[in-house]
Amino acid sequence: MGPVTKQAIFLGGELYRFGGFRGNHPLAIPRVAAVLDLCHALGWLPESERLDCPEADHEQLCMFHDAAYVEALRRADSAGHVSADDRARYHIGTFENPVAPGSYLRAACAVGGSILAADLAMQGRLPFHPAGGMHHGRRDRASGFCLFNDPVFALRRLAEHGLDRIAYVDFDAHHGDGVQDAVAADARMHTLSIHEAGRWPHTGAADDASTGRAVNLPVPPGCSDGEYRVLVDEVVLPWLDMIRPDAVVVVCGTDALDGDPLSAMEVSNGAWWGAVAAVVARVPHAVVLGGGGYNPWTLARGWSGLWGQLSGRSHEGPLNGPARAVLQGLHCDLIDDDEVRQEWISTLNDRHGAETIRDPVRMLARDARQALARRHRQLSLLETP
Ligand SMILES: [Zn+2]
Repeated sequence: MGPVTKQAIFLGGELYRFGGFRGNHPLAIPRVAAVLDLCHALGWLPESERLDCPEADHEQLCMFHDAAYVEALRRADSAGHVSADDRARYHIGTFENPVAPGSYLRAACAVGGSILAADLAMQGRLPFHPAGGMHHGRRDRASGFCLFNDPVFALRRLAEHGLDRIAYVDFDAHHGDGVQDAVAADARMHTLSIHEAGRWPHTGAADDASTGRAVNLPVPPGCSDGEYRVLVDEVVLPWLDMIRPDAVVVVCGTDALDGDPLSAMEVSNGAWWGAVAAVVARVPHAVVLGGGGYNPWTLARGWSGLWGQLSGRSHEGPLNGPARAVLQGLHCDLIDDDEVRQEWISTLNDRHGAETIRDPVRMLARDARQALARRHRQLSLLETP
């Protein structure tokens, strides 16, 4: 793939140092703040390349979400507790989707950041918004740690700019169900998700095409670098060539990386950065969002290295002292101290992963290619006068 030539811009800042998930919630780890710290330690984040995320206002949020749900979340946030009725109706105030002071602001800023990212992409910039990518959020309720669904706002904003072919690529280890369903009725939107089979939310089977514009690639546990590359080269990129989108929104949950406690994919960060860069290089306008990711070491290295890739920077060899100190200072309830690999502290780049390609993955790629070819023929018939 060619080098990324657009000027990248990092969205997010100090807001992400405070509040957020607490206690033993899988998201109660430093995420965007650790990325900011690591990028600063590497000298990769001058102020001129960073913008804060604006808060989406009530009217903007209600362009996708139900007003009653938005109100319930705001009410819970300011009251500091969730009523039984709101918990039952909107799935907030549960272990899965806790609400604490600041939750509303962070979620509304994730949406504001995704809207801004779409505008910046249309201005020829390459925005990276790691606090975005909350792909499970539903119109009228929270789901899967996601309150608002910011990727939907990025997609809709691109459509508001007059684009009529928009792609969504989801590299998170979990199926991007919320986004797929939210845009299913919109003929301008085409979605693709690579995720681990057998994981929550248990949707996104290989034969799930939604309303005909969704592609789903559920990979068996243990997905290797070689397998990831086969899926990207043989399905994702040909799919982009087929639909020729004007813009793409990419969700980059780091739970696809080797070492994540909530998934069993074994992709190295180098293979994963290459996949995102290949998608971004293929499409005129791109918005790059975060997503899940529950290992703070692989997350901080994964997103920092992704920012490096997008902004034309790279790092080889051992990390400098300040960068190591950032990684050394991380902690995670889901990962024991003796499970913290030495390279998670000392390097940015994972060792290359396995190139082995198992038969089920070859078949998944082959079946997906055949389905694409069938769809392409149908599209050609429709487009022939
Ligand atoms: Zn995930």
